[in-house]
Amino acid sequence: VCPVDAITAGDNSLKFLRDLATPNKLVITQMAPAVRVTIGEAFGFEPGENVERKLAAALRKLGVDYVFDTTWGADLTIAEEAAEFQDRLERYLAGEKNVRLPILTSCCPAWIKFIEQNYGDMLDVPSTAKSPMQMFATVAKEIWAKEKGFSREEVTSVAIMPCIAKKYEASRAEFSINLNYDVDYVITTRELIRILETSGIDLKNIEEEDIDPVLGEYTGAGIIFGRTGGVIEAAVRTAVEKITGKKLDNIEFEQLRGWDGFRIAEVEAGDLKLRIGVTHGLREAAKMLDKIRSGEEFFHAIEIMACECGCVGGGGQPKIKRNKKEVLINRAEGLNSIDRSKEIRKSDENPYIQAIYEKYLEHPLSHKAHELLHTSYFPRVKVRKDKNKSDVVEYKE
Ligand code: SF4
Repeated sequence: VCPVDAITAGDNSLKFLRDLATPNKLVITQMAPAVRVTIGEAFGFEPGENVERKLAAALRKLGVDYVFDTTWGADLTIAEEAAEFQDRLERYLAGEKNVRLPILTSCCPAWIKFIEQNYGDMLDVPSTAKSPMQMFATVAKEIWAKEKGFSREEVTSVAIMPCIAKKYEASRAEFSINLNYDVDYVITTRELIRILETSGIDLKNIEEEDIDPVLGEYTGAGIIFGRTGGVIEAAVRTAVEKITGKKLDNIEFEQLRGWDGFRIAEVEAGDLKLRIGVTHGLREAAKMLDKIRSGEEFFHAIEIMACECGCVGGGGQPKIKRNKKEVLINRAEGLNSIDRSKEIRKSDENPYIQAIYEKYLEHPLSHKAHELLHTSYFPRVKVRKDKNKSDVVEYKE
């Protein structure tokens, strides 16, 4: 079930199969970090087992032309978000009046919609960096496709997501050009399981294949986006080094990890102690925002994920029949294991990310990066007068 309830996007499985069967149609996919540690459960793998290379083979067998990875987009999101955090922090500490902290990581669309509906006075809190799915899709259509000689219209861009809210995010008008959307449509993990089952593809019995490179190579920081505390930990790995100018000895921030719904941690950045809040589940998120709004709590940065334990517990993931918490923790630990197995574990050190800045985007927060990789938020309220001429605020869809 989608945590924001109002999201009722349709199933695009048939559309996906039709597109794959259409001759000369170029179909590319991206897969979110959390999908690879959950989809295997439907094929006899344990929760948390990484089946990304089997999934790459399965998607190619279905007819996908290029199998890419959203995790690459997560590294790009961190490059922008960490730079934005450093910039906002420095201006805040310098006493600039119109700069507000905390900064909120912005990759959860359910949460973004929630803040637009309920906290219209706090829309300067979320980072303006697009989510990994949207950053990936923008680069795929605006840079990769053009480099290959394809127009936007010739590429069908499909996102395999743990999340029903991602369908709504993909349909936001700001993520389209002349009604051509950066993500054409989203398929959830559960929908992909059904597609594979009805196509006779068994992940257990398929030979592993590589994910397509360039938009596929990722770091350990990108992969932990799929669990609670992961996005802020990835951001902190990059931001603390940029703020202090020193290499970190230990990049695992245990104080940001854990399973409580509302956690508060301190992270040292030189002489500065960064106060960071992490929540998962909308009830805890609302509690945190209310405390920030009233001045009861102050944070330099916050992470909010709408689903329990983050995207590993997303509304589009395989249903958990028993031992829910244990399964969610195993899925999340699967992401931590992938992180630890990676030689590069900080997003800004990803050579493919560095290359895209060198060739097209100059540097994080450049004019070009803003144009392609950032977005805006809108209050979703309407105000009317009641019979006593007082303002009444109503939420709107
Ligand atoms: Fe989607 Fe849930 Fe992840 Fe938010 S936490 S991006 S709603 S799966």
